[in-house]
Amino acid sequence: MTAFPLSPNATIGLVGGGQLGRMSALAAARLGYRCHILTRETDSPAAQVSHAVTISDYSEPNSLRAFAQAVDVISFEFENVSAEGLDLLASIRPVRPAPSVLRISQDRLDEKTFLNGAGAATAPWAPVGSLAELQAAVQRIGLPAVLKTTRLGYDGKGQATLRTVDDLAPAFERLNPKPLVLEGFVDFAQEISVVLARGADGVIASFDTVENRHRAHILDLTLAPARVPDAISAAAQDIARRVAVALDLVGLLAVEMFVDATGKVLVNEIAPRPHNSGHWTIDACPASQFEMHIRAIAGLPLPPAVRHSDAVMKNLIGPEGMALWPAAVATPGLIPHLYGKSEALPGRKMGHVTRLFPRNALPGDFGIAAALGPLA
Ligand code: AMP
Repeated sequence: MTAFPLSPNATIGLVGGGQLGRMSALAAARLGYRCHILTRETDSPAAQVSHAVTISDYSEPNSLRAFAQAVDVISFEFENVSAEGLDLLASIRPVRPAPSVLRISQDRLDEKTFLNGAGAATAPWAPVGSLAELQAAVQRIGLPAVLKTTRLGYDGKGQATLRTVDDLAPAFERLNPKPLVLEGFVDFAQEISVVLARGADGVIASFDTVENRHRAHILDLTLAPARVPDAISAAAQDIARRVAVALDLVGLLAVEMFVDATGKVLVNEIAPRPHNSGHWTIDACPASQFEMHIRAIAGLPLPPAVRHSDAVMKNLIGPEGMALWPAAVATPGLIPHLYGKSEALPGRKMGHVTRLFPRNALPGDFGIAAALGPLA
């Protein structure tokens, strides 16, 4: 039986071998824990810095069983494990966040139903199973709209923007036969997010609301704190807390939101794990999102999620991102992070840099560009 809080030297099992697992494992090591990674990849970013690794498909019962038996608690950096796999893991060791939380975040329809039920507004949406249903949904929601696969979409993969009625059939053909959802297009003023941790005792530590800028559907920059009116930032915090409580979350939660032209805050999606828009916390907060993740699942107390500095985080993506690496390590003031991936495929997140500013002194766009120097 696992006792909480985990003792020093206990082993945390992390499902997924990417950079989120790597940075969680680094935070765990600092707290005296070992990490055991379950991943499909050889030489994964997380396994490179961890105590042990199981290389296996996420649905192979024997590997899942052996992995669970080798660890004290199980968490995730990658949430798309099958329902049966989750149940198997949970039958052997505590799984944090609970499988029920992961199931909600795995499916955009379950997620939106849950969010609306928890009182969090979203863009209007409708399930789409056929071209006729898509036409009916467009009648109701209007154009432009975004057609998305309900499962396994990220960074703009598995989605199509519909601008005219001529776009409907080709988009449906491309994404069919996967289950789909149509969302109203949000003409957003800003994209923002909140990352928070919640302990088993219900204590919440929530990082400041941040602003996210995307390029080609992939996060490019995070500005901490978000440059939005206090009321909008507070509304975002309130939504994130409400969602965490409704999920009965134990662990970390990221809530991605749109601020529409009228200042209304709409949830885009949630992720019950560390999030790219929380990377700035490694350098700008005494306890980062990764430390909060480990503390929450290990049953350690959660310190306040304060920031000592303002920050800008820039992702290094694909070959273009790697071409900037020499400048990232050579430019004073930039704090470089590299994830250990061997191949810089287009669109792949290879690393990031953080630039700190005194608290409450985040500059405007020109100042940020100047501070990022050759990386702007
Ligand atoms: P997602 O994969 O749902 O996180 O979407 C990736 C990005 O696509 C978001 O961060 C937005 O920039 C854009 N996007 C997604 N859904 C919508 C929407 N309904 N309206 C406007 N932009 C969207």
